[in-house]
Amino acid sequence: MGLPADLAHHALRVLRLRDGASIVLFNGHGGEFAAALRVSGIEARARIVAFDHVERESPLQLTLIQALVASEKLDWIVEKAVELGVTRIVIVPTQRSVVRLDEERSARRLLQWAKTARAACSQCGRNRVPAVEYLASFGAALAAVATDQPRLLLLPQAAGSLPATVPGRRVVLAVGPEGGFNDVEVQLAAGAGFTAVQLGPRVLRTETAGLAALAALQASAGDLATGVR
Ligand code: SAH
Repeated sequence: MGLPADLAHHALRVLRLRDGASIVLFNGHGGEFAAALRVSGIEARARIVAFDHVERESPLQLTLIQALVASEKLDWIVEKAVELGVTRIVIVPTQRSVVRLDEERSARRLLQWAKTARAACSQCGRNRVPAVEYLASFGAALAAVATDQPRLLLLPQAAGSLPATVPGRRVVLAVGPEGGFNDVEVQLAAGAGFTAVQLGPRVLRTETAGLAALAALQASAGDLATGVR
């Protein structure tokens, strides 16, 4: 099969692979293909040698609702959340989000975030690509997640903490922007059945908070401590 232009560029120009090099391909729906690179001129093709059913997904299904923040921070959050095994990322503008995106720009940014998610998958060996979505309102994001799972609003002043066990193996986390959620959003989330939880005594940056929570959940109830390769 012919490799898509961006992959061919990456293989030939960035990694400088030669004809016959062993490569691994994935289509995002599980498993991966061992293949040999075939180079002729500027064209790169792959000859599939074998399929491996390998899975590197966590037993935990984690959804991250992330408040819209500056572009470079969001790319970073998407990349690291994918590495930490997030299942779904929902990006949403909140009252205190400094950035505003119109429909056209949000569509463009969504393509960029999806690309970042795919690149993070190739880098870390994930062969199922997490969904990345953009929803135009916080209310829509709260409504876009199934209600039969713990849904947690990360709030520095909350009384509760992250659950130590996750019987249903699914959790939703909502993280605010640099200025935090405002009272209306806290009320809205509570009304939608979200529980406010804190992540310890220090106020973390928005880009740290979600990743810390993902890592903590993977460590207590997911694959961070138990995963074998
Ligand atoms: N002054 C803001 C701080 C925002 S920090 C406030 O008081 O809300 C950005 C986001 O990271 C927060 O909205 C929250 O979702 C998350 N966060 C940061 N530190 C946290 C902590 N210690 N516990 C829970 N959530 C935290």
